[in-house]
Amino acid sequence: MVLPVYGYGHPLLRKVSEEITPEYPGLPELIQNMFETMKASNGVGLAAPQIGLNIRLFVIDAAPYADEIDKQYPLRGVFINPEIIEETGEPWTFEEGCLSIPDIHEDVERPPVVRIRYQNEQFEHFDKVYDGMLARIIQHEYDHLEGIMFVDHVSNLRRMVLRKRLGDIVQGRITPGYKMKYASVKR
Ligand code: ZN
Repeated sequence: MVLPVYGYGHPLLRKVSEEITPEYPGLPELIQNMFETMKASNGVGLAAPQIGLNIRLFVIDAAPYADEIDKQYPLRGVFINPEIIEETGEPWTFEEGCLSIPDIHEDVERPPVVRIRYQNEQFEHFDKVYDGMLARIIQHEYDHLEGIMFVDHVSNLRRMVLRKRLGDIVQGRITPGYKMKYASVKR
């Protein structure tokens, strides 16, 4: 089932999310719905706060970037209760977007290598190092669990330039081509 994506300005996107246990109700279905929602909106990552749940869970599917990713890494992944241990290397710039912030793309600097501990959908523990585009996607989704959005990483000047367009998203004055829930629009 495709779920509405919560838009920029919604308070849930600004909360620090909580860890979950295997007993979390309806988890397999939730993960399935998150993959479907991500696919329907052509995303490469989706974090639970973006569908209105403040839990530490995100999914990724980096298939559009397959050519840039080392074959040893799976493109699809479920990250539960993740914890970034360290980020290393000379920061690089990439133009990021976000399903919660449609039609806005901005250069964001991030370190190229990330070490992350997490659990998969079977709650098996992993401690892995990712780099390049996979690291980028993971860092962006992880930020959502901390209540951080990519526009927080751009300069004050750029944010001022974006202010009106961000306001349009808050007000729902956009047509992103997928289902959204806007901060200022009651259900
Ligand atoms: Zn995002």
